[in-house]
Order: sequence, then C-alpha cells, then structure tokens
Amino acid sequence: MKLIIFGPPGAGKGTQAAFIKEKYNVEHISTGDVLREAVKNETEVGLLAKSYMDKGELVPDEVVIEIINQKISGLGDKGFMLDGFPRTIKQAEALDSALSNQNLNLDTVVLLEVDDEEVVQRIMKRQQIESRDDDSEDVVRNRLKVYREQTSPLKDYYSKKGLLHVVEGVGEVSDISKRIDNVLKQFD
Ligand code: ADP
Repeated sequence: MKLIIFGPPGAGKGTQAAFIKEKYNVEHISTGDVLREAVKNETEVGLLAKSYMDKGELVPDEVVIEIINQKISGLGDKGFMLDGFPRTIKQAEALDSALSNQNLNLDTVVLLEVDDEEVVQRIMKRQQIESRDDDSEDVVRNRLKVYREQTSPLKDYYSKKGLLHVVEGVGEVSDISKRIDNVLKQFD
C-alpha cells in the first residue's frame, strides 16, 4: 500500500503512523524526522533547514523534494507512508511525477482533522514533555497559519483525484486508529 497521511501540526500523525506501519508493514517516511536528524548531525541540509524550522516556516520545496525523491527511489515496490510530505501543491506535483516515472500510484490520502485550539493545547502539553524547538506558542501558531495557507489546499488537490479520506482526529487514540483502519483496509 502507498499512502499519504497529512493534517495540521499536532494532529497525531506520528502516533497513528506508528500504528499504520505496524499493521500494514509500510515504510514510514517522515520529512520532519529526516530534517530533525539532519539538524542534529549538522549536515548542509540540516543547517539550512534549521532556520526555517525554528520559525515554523516550511523548508524550501527543492530541499524536501530532493529528500523524498531519494527515499522513494530506494524502495522498489515496497509500500510506503508519507508523513509531512507533500506540504505544498508544488511538492504534490513533484511527487506525482516522481511516482509516475517509476510507474507507481498512490492508493489513498488520509487527512487527520483536528481544530486549531485543540492543536495548540496538545502541542503546549507536548512541549512540557519533549521540548521540541518549534513547539513554543507563537511558533505553533505560525505553523498553523502556514498549514492553512500552504498545506490545506492539498485537500482539494487530492479530493479531485478521488484519493482523499477525511478522518476525525479527536477522541481516544485507539478509536482514531480504528477510523483510519476502516479506510485503509479497503486498499490492503
Ligand atoms: P508537524 O507535523 O508537527 O508540523 P513535522 O515534524 O512534520 O511537524 O515538521 C517539522 C518542521 O519541518 C516543519 O514545521 C517544517 O519546517 C519542516 N518540514 C517538514 N516537512 C516539510 C515539507 N514537506 N516541506 C517543507 N518543510 C517541511
């Protein structure tokens, strides 16, 4: 299975991605994780990415597109789940051409929907536990703004392709997993 999971920051994508990976045996490709690793190792990409991530801005399309192209080309026909990519229409178009070059198709796109205030509260709570650099309240509000302006148009983009499934991301973690599973089992 080949899928995208997307949603606002703090929607619980990481948690649900772990469930999906386990159940459907897909490779989990998270641009946020790849970028954080690059920042930690102070690579060239990491040094560039950090300045954007700290402000809650998107890292330039060219950088993340290159990362994803490399990840996807190494997969053969193994299933995968993209988490945190695409985040702009330009990234989505780049993904379409990378996939079609390899004769691959997406099966589905899951949007995990959570409203803004819930997101801010969740991230504030997470900050007390994990202290991610980009989890302060004004950075979170900026990430939400960036999400609304640049990422939410993907809803229409994938809806027009008949791929979009919207899942309510509020409630018990296990209930949300069940909702996602109900979508994914059609494609297994
Ligand atoms: P969250 O889902 O909590 O917003 P991620 O871990 O997915 O966070 O991403 C953290 C940061 O990494 C983003 O705010 C952004 O700066 C950068 N980033 C991750 N994926 C992308 C992408 N596809 N395009 C541009 N920037 C990205």
